[in-house]
Amino acid sequence: MHELGIAQQLIEMAEDAARRQHVDRVLSVRVDIGSLSGVLLDALTFCFDACTRQTLLEGCRLEINQIAAQARCQSCAQTYALNHYFDSCPFCCAADKVVLCGEELQLREMEVD
Ligand SMILES: [Zn+2]
Repeated sequence: MHELGIAQQLIEMAEDAARRQHVDRVLSVRVDIGSLSGVLLDALTFCFDACTRQTLLEGCRLEINQIAAQARCQSCAQTYALNHYFDSCPFCCAADKVVLCGEELQLREMEVD
């Protein structure tokens, strides 16, 4: 499962950061997840809870900051909400675009004891 690997990666990053700060308990972590990242949030939360057992993150709260995807049209320069990667511009129907946000998958901050 895709989300299992992501959960493990987030936990590793948080544990590394916690060790560097010499703390031995992480209370919560906040992650940014873009709507294009393809992450199933329920699955991620489930895997996260399962994988934090017997780590510095045991019982840790996972706060997910969902980021709606946006793109800028290369043809008419309008910005629009992107529901899928392959959406075309709603203003001029051009397919060429720059994705501005929505691909995020990162650890934003964490609260430690
Ligand atoms: Zn356009």
